[in-house]
Amino acid sequence: MMINEIIKHKEKKTCYFCSQAAKEIDYKDVEILKRFLSASYKIKKRKHTGLCSFHQRKFAKAVKRARQMALLPFLP
Ligand SMILES: [Zn+2]
Repeated sequence: MMINEIIKHKEKKTCYFCSQAAKEIDYKDVEILKRFLSASYKIKKRKHTGLCSFHQRKFAKAVKRARQMALLPFLP
């Protein structure tokens, strides 16, 4: 248990969108967006998503856009 925690702590999180070399995040890819949303469709913090600041901002905008297009709900 202890050892696992230490390893987890040392592990560097790599941004999902950086690993995909994505410059833009498509708001139509709801399945990908859902990965970084909480159970009640809230945008998770960067700590929890593991995204870089650049992609976190793009992601937040994509979610808001998807909500406007009724692809994601505003409320659970
Ligand atoms: Zn990134």
